[in-house]
Amino acid sequence: MSGILIFCRDCGKQVPSSETRDGLCVECRVRRSVADLRDEHARLWRKRERYRTHNANANVEQIGRQIARVEDRMGQRIKELVSNERQATDYLRKELEAARGQRYTIKGV
Ligand SMILES: [Zn+2]
Repeated sequence: MSGILIFCRDCGKQVPSSETRDGLCVECRVRRSVADLRDEHARLWRKRERYRTHNANANVEQIGRQIARVEDRMGQRIKELVSNERQATDYLRKELEAARGQRYTIKGV
């Protein structure tokens, strides 16, 4: 256990060196590891919203299942990085909130 604090080279937060890999804090590693899945999640989420507006309920259900699978995979990746289960759940929730929020900020899709 090292008491040395270093600055995460992504978010700039000061974190114990024992919690970093490649100069990245655990939060940034989590974010990077699920980045592609988060984009996929946001894409499906927007698609489902579109179907919902058109009352295409069968499609809404099908996409709902796809979204659930992406969320499972995000959870698995985060668990590989974060051994503490409660912490892993917190990170997953944050990533999901970010994914769901993305649909409001992405324009022209
Ligand atoms: Zn960081």
